[in-house]
Amino acid sequence: MNKPLILVVEDDGTVRNLITTTLKSNEYRFLTAFNGESAIAAASTRQPDIVLLDLGLPDMDGVEVIRRIRSWSQMPIIVISARSEDADKIAALDAGADDYLTKPFSVAELLARLRVTQRRLAAQEGKSGEAIFRNGNLSIDYGAGCAYLGGDQLKLTPTEFKLLCLLAKDAGKVLTHTYLTEKIWGSSWESDMASLRVHMATLRRKLEKDPDTQYIQTHIGIGYRMLKI
Ligand code: CA
Repeated sequence: MNKPLILVVEDDGTVRNLITTTLKSNEYRFLTAFNGESAIAAASTRQPDIVLLDLGLPDMDGVEVIRRIRSWSQMPIIVISARSEDADKIAALDAGADDYLTKPFSVAELLARLRVTQRRLAAQEGKSGEAIFRNGNLSIDYGAGCAYLGGDQLKLTPTEFKLLCLLAKDAGKVLTHTYLTEKIWGSSWESDMASLRVHMATLRRKLEKDPDTQYIQTHIGIGYRMLKI
């Protein structure tokens, strides 16, 4: 197996050296970027396995880098930032970051986060190889673009199906409102939030005909989660 390729995006030379030295001595390959524009370019041309991203970059906010990468790729992004405010964490997670590391961090902590991300990636690869998703009575045939409850095909609109696939792909994880609207409409205006509520309500009416089986959990003010049955 190839050594994982890590894209290190950090404008502070001292932190960058600490990270690359750690990666080098732990059998990772790496490439570096010093600002947002070159990070986005490197992510697209070199297709790294994991991105380590500083949020405070000279040319743009790291959250914007996450949004731009997420418009075309699900590559794992671990945010590294000196900022400890919750608002920044939520903004980064909302934009699609996978994990968060606050400076100053230890080398052991960095390596642990990388291993967790690699394991999740390996598990996802195994799953995405399966054409059929199953959870309780629900099954999704990704190739055919159909979902079934028991033996019956659910009559879903394209948006409802997309929503169901997003929740299924990250079953067990809370997906924020902003994440879902960004994935579906590429924006997160108040009108998108309203549309999301409407589509989620119609999806749930079709999916949860049996009142005893709840597939989707609402997290008020945060988002939705598919429960593992
Ligand atoms: Ca910085």
